[in-house]
Amino acid sequence: MEKSPGTRMMAGAKQPYLLFEPKQKYPQAFCTPEDIAIAETVRKFVDNEVMPRRDDLEGGFHRDEHRALGALHHLYRACGVLGISKMSVPEALGGMAASASARMIVLDELSRGDIGLANMVAKMAWVSSIMMACRREDLMKEFAPKIVSDPPYAACVAISEPSGGANIEDPAFSFKTLRTIAKPEGDSYVINGHKIWPGPAGPMERFKTKDLAGHMGYWTVATLDPAAGEEGVGIFWVPPDAPGLSFSKPIEKMGMSWTDENAEIWYDNVRIDKRYRIDTQPGQAAQVLKGYVIGYGRLSGGPCLTGLSEGVLETALNWTADRTIAGIPVREHSAFAMAFGDMWRLIDISRQYYLSVTWQASSRNHGRPWSKEMMAKFSAARSFAADVADKVCKTSMEFMGAYGYSFGNQVEKYARDYPIVKLWLGGAQRDRMEIAHGLYGTLGWPLRSEK
Ligand SMILES: Cc1cc2nc3c(=O)[nH]c(=O)nc-3n(C[C@H](O)[C@H](O)[C@H](O)COP(=O)(O)OP(=O)(O)OC[C@H]3O[C@@H](n4cnc5c(N)ncnc54)[C@H](O)[C@@H]3O)c2cc1C
Repeated sequence: MEKSPGTRMMAGAKQPYLLFEPKQKYPQAFCTPEDIAIAETVRKFVDNEVMPRRDDLEGGFHRDEHRALGALHHLYRACGVLGISKMSVPEALGGMAASASARMIVLDELSRGDIGLANMVAKMAWVSSIMMACRREDLMKEFAPKIVSDPPYAACVAISEPSGGANIEDPAFSFKTLRTIAKPEGDSYVINGHKIWPGPAGPMERFKTKDLAGHMGYWTVATLDPAAGEEGVGIFWVPPDAPGLSFSKPIEKMGMSWTDENAEIWYDNVRIDKRYRIDTQPGQAAQVLKGYVIGYGRLSGGPCLTGLSEGVLETALNWTADRTIAGIPVREHSAFAMAFGDMWRLIDISRQYYLSVTWQASSRNHGRPWSKEMMAKFSAARSFAADVADKVCKTSMEFMGAYGYSFGNQVEKYARDYPIVKLWLGGAQRDRMEIAHGLYGTLGWPLRSEK
């Protein structure tokens, strides 16, 4: 039998790491005992179901599409059966109406297993938040059966365009850089434009498999008139098989190769019923986009990047427990032990911070989600967690030597998957700018004052 070159490691804690037990990680200042019990359930699910399939989610080293999508759809469905997709849906519509903290810590636990899978699951909360923030109970009622369905559906929010994603997410530009146009015509809107990167996106048949019921459609950001800025922007639901909608092949990327199938989307005279414009009042879409789509979107990067960092640290702890230098396990040399202490400290601070910001946003005591203050904190939570992931991935890979760098030993895949979570929704530079705006009380670049 051919020997497998290089050790193949299973991700996940080999022994209980006391400080990573949910009761230690998630303080009751921000999470109820019920929230923590949910985190424990998801943690077990990740250990038993996700960790053994991490290589499959990649399709193996050769990125076999069939193997990757089979594993992804299987696990995505299992997340639905566990109740994760129902967490953002009101109880009256068959959901769990879980708290924002509970939803965040579930993303943290899932990302410890696979950040791409967590991202796919989070799309359901994203589209629900748009409809609920726009107070469209009618649309929630219409879509809830699909959000909670088994087999599940996929969903997508389409913002970024070829001329630049970060511009659209810069408050200084007031959505004036959008080039996807929605034109009112009788009882319809007719949409023309071009998006790039939204995911998962593609022809309907890609989303009809043994474990996937289909695609729920594209929550599309478009403008009636770019010059009208915040008054012109709207959010439109476009059916996945609307005439005039077409897609590129999935874009090849460094990480999340299949867990986020990103594509170009063309809208060529796509006609939708007027009631599928989700926002209903002038200026509402701008607030919802800033606060819920971009703001909470960035905040949810905090738990994803923190959970991933924990998964990486556990992998390095496992490896260095067995690997020896001068007959002593690597991690028992004090230089390594201190570095592990440093990394745990960063992960825990990142976790406590995103939970605090989640609590602040939910309590509304610190500003509305679209306020400069909360946008600064959402951006700080994401960018801090990203810096922690940078540090933990780099150091852990160094500690594992060639084994950290090679495929199948886990750290390499974690290290390729996470950078996009720092780059999307405007990216790491915009995060810093948002924090500066919160500090200076300014609105956009150049740092001009709000009138
Ligand atoms: C895997 C993946 C998944 C994605 N998922 C989605 C999705 O579901 N929906 C969607 O709509 N899009 C999605 N995107 C797109 C993503 O959100 C954008 O790529 C991102 O917002 C950055 O836009 P850009 O790539 O056009 O970079 P640019 O806008 O060209 O920015 C380049 C660099 O300049 C910085 N920058 C640009 N403008 C400013 C500014 N005004 N102030 C400060 N810094 C600035 C940016 O931070 C960045 O570092 C995804 C992308 C990938 C790769």
